[in-house]
Amino acid sequence: MIASHCSETNRTMGSIRPFTQTVSRVASYSARPMRKLRIDSMEVAGKRVFIRVDFNVPLEGGVISDDRRIKACLPTIRSVLSRGGRAVLASHLGRPEGKGFEAEYSLAPVARRLAELLGADAPFGVGFPSNNCTDPDARTAVLEMPDHGVVLLENLRFEKGEKKGDGAFAEKLAGLCDLYVNDAFGTSHRADASMYALPLAMRQRGKPCVSGFLLSAELDYLIARIAAAQRPFTAILGGAKVSDKIMAIENLLTKVDRLIIGGAMAYTFLRAQGVATGNSLVEADKVELAASILAAAKAKGKQILLPSDHSCGKEFKTGTESKDFVGAIPDGWMGLDIGPATRAQFTAAIRSSKTVVWNGPMGVFEMPPFDAGTRAIADAVVAATKLGAITIAGGGDTAAAVEQFGVAEQLSHVSTGGGASLEVLEGKKLICLDAIDDA
Ligand code: AMP
Repeated sequence: MIASHCSETNRTMGSIRPFTQTVSRVASYSARPMRKLRIDSMEVAGKRVFIRVDFNVPLEGGVISDDRRIKACLPTIRSVLSRGGRAVLASHLGRPEGKGFEAEYSLAPVARRLAELLGADAPFGVGFPSNNCTDPDARTAVLEMPDHGVVLLENLRFEKGEKKGDGAFAEKLAGLCDLYVNDAFGTSHRADASMYALPLAMRQRGKPCVSGFLLSAELDYLIARIAAAQRPFTAILGGAKVSDKIMAIENLLTKVDRLIIGGAMAYTFLRAQGVATGNSLVEADKVELAASILAAAKAKGKQILLPSDHSCGKEFKTGTESKDFVGAIPDGWMGLDIGPATRAQFTAAIRSSKTVVWNGPMGVFEMPPFDAGTRAIADAVVAATKLGAITIAGGGDTAAAVEQFGVAEQLSHVSTGGGASLEVLEGKKLICLDAIDDA
């Protein structure tokens, strides 16, 4: 979905927009603006540039089923190659145990796809040395690569030091390159060795550590633009569990004008209001917390919108008998999507917003007809974008949903990071940003 092109524009998961140089990095994301050096401000000709990417793509039978994360890093890679630099790419894939090579987690399919995507921009193809990122083969491949060359190291997590954030493992990598680039937003909340100890070790050697275009765009949308949000500012939260999103709810309520809650998590809130929820998914131990969140929001004059009608199923399975209910959900039925009146109400709130942040589907979007609510909300977010709003979607399921509906390009930004984007919405600091040089 991100076109293969060589320009250094801010092509995010959505449309191309001019970059703003200012990226706010915020300790607990207060309004302290902070500029990070970005790859395009660095001299790279003849230099070995270590680019930490997040190529943790889904594989089905060895075939990549979604290559968005690879495409999202192309502007950074091309920026290095087109200026005569040497790109040394490194990523994790899946969760190998750190006991050396495991074929199941090899980055070989990624190396092939990357070579296809780079085409003539990588005149020497994509080097993919050895079964281990630090063995002599890998080292030789990196040290002997030509200008405009690309080497993809094998899965970093084959080394147990990667997950442990081990300094000794980072030291082995630190000697390989002249410059470090973080373009792995989706991993920036984890202090893995290549994400944190490595740039710190490189800085100690006087080597620059900068952001790539993808990281820069993610921070621009998820932090800077949210910190300076145009109002009305609406957040939409959905998905399966309240417990996963409590911190995001609490943090967003300090920032937004209204909060829309859909998905299964809405039923815990409705139960807190005394509404019957039938067999819907409810977290009984979070009902009291939901009640206190509703009360606190009311006291602060913040609007929380909950579903007033529901598309329900008899069972949680494809083809189950379905029926819409207004208000209470009778026993024997479970809410699997927001109903038509709710779709209309949420749509009106979204369309009149100037900033929209969305994390979590409104229903079981993987199982028609219970995709209709999420689809309606996606359409409303697209409409808001066309009306001039900044619209940001984050979270793996939300990104998958907008992709499934074919509208991802029509939002301002679709984040490549699930856990990382949620941590930003929770107001947490992404630890790996500390290791990147300020501009
Ligand atoms: P999360 O990972 O918390 O964002 O949750 C995403 C998942 O929530 C998706 O797989 C949806 O199918 C699921 N989901 C959304 N609404 C419902 C619902 N009403 N009942 C059960 N699951 C739901």
